[in-house]
Amino acid sequence: MAQDTTQALKALDSFAKRHIGPTRTGIEEMLQAIGVESLDELIAQAVPSSILHPEPLDIGPALTEPETLAYLRTVAAKNKVMTSLIGQGYYGTLVPGVIQRNILENPAWYTAYTPYQPEISQGRLEALINFQTMVCDLTGLDIANASLLDEATAAAEAMAMAQRGSKSKKTAFFVDKNCHPQTIAVMQTRSKPFGWTLVIGDPELDLEPTEVFGAILQYPGTGGQIVDYRKVIAALHAAGAVAVMAADPLALTLLTSPGELGADMAIGSTQRFGVPMGYGGPHAAFLATRDDFKRSLPGRLVGVSIDARGNQAYRLALQTREQHIRREKATSNICTAQVLLAVMAGMYAVYHGPEGLKGIAAQVHGVTAKLAAGLASLGVAVETTAFFDTLTIKTGARTADIVAAALAAGMNVRQYPSGDKIGISLDETTTPAIVEAIWALFGAAPKYADVVATEALPANLKRTSKFLTHPVFNQYHSETEMLRYMRRLADRDLALDRAMIPLGSCTMKLNATTEMIPVTWPEFGNLHPFAPADQAAGYAELAAALEKQLCAITGYDAFSFQPNSGAQGEYAGLLAINAYHESRGEGHRKICLIPASAHGTNPASAQMASMEVVGVKCDERGNVDVEDLREKAKHYADILAAVMITYPSTHGVFEERVREICEIVHECGGQVYLDGANLNAQVGVVYPGKFGADVSHLNLHKTFCIPHGGGGPGVGPIGVRAHLAPYLPGHPQTSPNSPVGPVSAAPIGSASILVISWAYILLMGGEGLTLATQTAILSANYIAKRLEGHYPTLYKNEHGRVAHECILDTRPLKASFGVSVDDLAKRLIDYGFHAPTMSFPVAGTLMVEPTESESKAEIDRFCDAMIAMRDEIRQIESGRWTADESPLHFAPHTIPDLVDEVWDRVYTRAEGCYPANTRRMDKYWAPVNRIDNAYGDRNLFCSCPPTAEYCEVISE
Ligand SMILES: *Cc1c(COP(=O)(O)O)cnc(C)c1O
Repeated sequence: MAQDTTQALKALDSFAKRHIGPTRTGIEEMLQAIGVESLDELIAQAVPSSILHPEPLDIGPALTEPETLAYLRTVAAKNKVMTSLIGQGYYGTLVPGVIQRNILENPAWYTAYTPYQPEISQGRLEALINFQTMVCDLTGLDIANASLLDEATAAAEAMAMAQRGSKSKKTAFFVDKNCHPQTIAVMQTRSKPFGWTLVIGDPELDLEPTEVFGAILQYPGTGGQIVDYRKVIAALHAAGAVAVMAADPLALTLLTSPGELGADMAIGSTQRFGVPMGYGGPHAAFLATRDDFKRSLPGRLVGVSIDARGNQAYRLALQTREQHIRREKATSNICTAQVLLAVMAGMYAVYHGPEGLKGIAAQVHGVTAKLAAGLASLGVAVETTAFFDTLTIKTGARTADIVAAALAAGMNVRQYPSGDKIGISLDETTTPAIVEAIWALFGAAPKYADVVATEALPANLKRTSKFLTHPVFNQYHSETEMLRYMRRLADRDLALDRAMIPLGSCTMKLNATTEMIPVTWPEFGNLHPFAPADQAAGYAELAAALEKQLCAITGYDAFSFQPNSGAQGEYAGLLAINAYHESRGEGHRKICLIPASAHGTNPASAQMASMEVVGVKCDERGNVDVEDLREKAKHYADILAAVMITYPSTHGVFEERVREICEIVHECGGQVYLDGANLNAQVGVVYPGKFGADVSHLNLHKTFCIPHGGGGPGVGPIGVRAHLAPYLPGHPQTSPNSPVGPVSAAPIGSASILVISWAYILLMGGEGLTLATQTAILSANYIAKRLEGHYPTLYKNEHGRVAHECILDTRPLKASFGVSVDDLAKRLIDYGFHAPTMSFPVAGTLMVEPTESESKAEIDRFCDAMIAMRDEIRQIESGRWTADESPLHFAPHTIPDLVDEVWDRVYTRAEGCYPANTRRMDKYWAPVNRIDNAYGDRNLFCSCPPTAEYCEVISE
């Protein structure tokens, strides 16, 4: 082996040998197979010399796994877990152990991909349809999506939906002043680019229904008060305006639902359904609406359809709404959402059932009513008269003393900017001792048992309608039944714990156990996002250290961790660009150049940031057409805001002329947004902040090992060069005077999962990270090479190299033999694999990204499967079967196929079910046959299917 490779492979002496799949020998063999001497030689062929960085990545040496955990323990210990009474959208909750261990800590759930291939995703699709059904039932509305990023962005999405759906042509939206402050702040950020005015006030006093396109009302209000909004909603409707309610799902088990009150939409957070506060996230938000609005619902939506045998099966519905198809005309830019957390919240409802949830809500209300009665007996002035779990207490001049006494007693209360009142929210973790400790803040505390309380829910708002009547919410209440239900669902799915998921653009790499372990430590899990800063020193250290590392890795000067997904990062980055232009008196710069190859979220985000999208062509190599770009940049030079490019491009190549692209755009007064989702090809090799880009989002849930969770959570931090740093997202709680407002509810978005990425970087060190990148590029080039005579790689650079992924051109197979990209994707299931990315960025192709984590053996198994499929197509050529008779057409094959009495196919059962070289013992069986997508959209049904069919399915 050449000298430089030997040097680079030194990293394999540490944790990197666990993270990086190929061994020394495997790497050597792959290098040989593609005809280069060393990793450096390959990198020199794949990466343009103009941007190659000669200096090694300097972020310190790798730590071992025990060292990493020991170090993270010391950091976690700097967070102080107190009893949180702050409320404001985040509550203590008891995560059922059976859910924590078997969902949150179970790779079968957390390493799954987004369920775009529904045949191998039936388990998580069922879990999500449970979530949707739960949301519909609690809110009393017809249809709910499968999660949004947080309550505040859900409110903003509802506002945008209201604007589209409203009959009113007004440009103002009314916001209840009793919405959570962070909800109001995010709505302000999101309304500004559209030019909508937010009118904030008391719905009963300040709302002029004819002056707005809609309104949001919070129920119960942020201060705890429950108001009957029936009249307000009726008045809005009379004026043609849309009524949105922000609601607490636990309170809804006792309160008349928003749907019954007349609301058109309801949003909220399901955090308190068994998902730790995590210093702000991740948690699943919800958005439910009436049937009439279903086509403009943002985010993913699970629906019911049928498979090729006519059996019921789940799938993602109405995907034509999404940005992958509609681009700048999409209903929203939401891509990654909060699947894992929605699964947890749905399972919490499955485990407790309707009676259990009502019991929890009654208990929470009971302790709150006791608290209020005790405070009354002490002569304390409580503002809240009708409440569920939250009281606002007038504390006047004594406020500071009471807050200090609470802190001394280990409790955080909510403080208001006015300084003359406090808020106290109770939850399912509240004990009588805590209530007595609160009383003690105000005087001689009575005994809990001695205080007599009466219910404080308004009589006209007590819930009478049933909810969660479906059997799924009523039959798994013992731990044994629950355990087996979750196991059954997990077994239906193909996640990274079974096989390689070769998804281009999505980087499905190892999510190491050691990286995951700290996530469920209470010192990270049980902190409220608005806890006093001195209680979150561990989090501050984590964020600062990770920021420093990411700056070193990217060449940027500052980062914000607020965005909860890549698309949110794009949005935040474009807001920074807007604000920068405004600061220079150039707020009129509104054109955003986006190449045809861009991910759909790019144009969708640009549109949300009030930019006008102008497309740029790509050449036959998949590169941005620099002349077209130059022409358009010059043409729009006076109003050019930005270019959004992905690097390496979504076509899987490092473009030679990226520096030039950046220079052209800068010369024309624009900023360069570099979509950093493909950073896995760059870490330790090139530095976007140094070759001309101004801002990027990174997807920590791709490159930096946060597991995909079946479609979320994600973290999409943005890195910026110094001139954009003042325009990173602010937050009313931590940086109220920032020029740009918040894009997420919590200051550090999904803080609790940042530790995963931090652990990864600590474990790998600079050398390990660099070797990971080199190996990822090697593996992709190895696949392109092995599949060369079978599936041509669509785009390569002038040296014949790809970056970390390759697009296999399968279009000729359709044209010549009638085999579609779908057939290949479904047939791969029979071989035990998840399909590569289908039809993105080029329709009819497959994009493969092996990542560095797959061993050479697994990569070979995948290539063998691809080649065996190509041989099946050769049998069409040779006349053994037609495309419609071939196993490709009938894939995936299922156990019902195997045991069917009749077998009238031209191939054998074994050829269908156990194609070449597949493992007999460990065969993965798709639980359903190929699913009919069009049927599902024509017969849209998005909650748990009716009982009769349900029983049939589970008894099968
Ligand atoms: C994944 C991806 C995104 C969007 O990221 P989300 O976290 O899903 O919002 C944007 N651009 C590219 C190139 C991606 O691969």
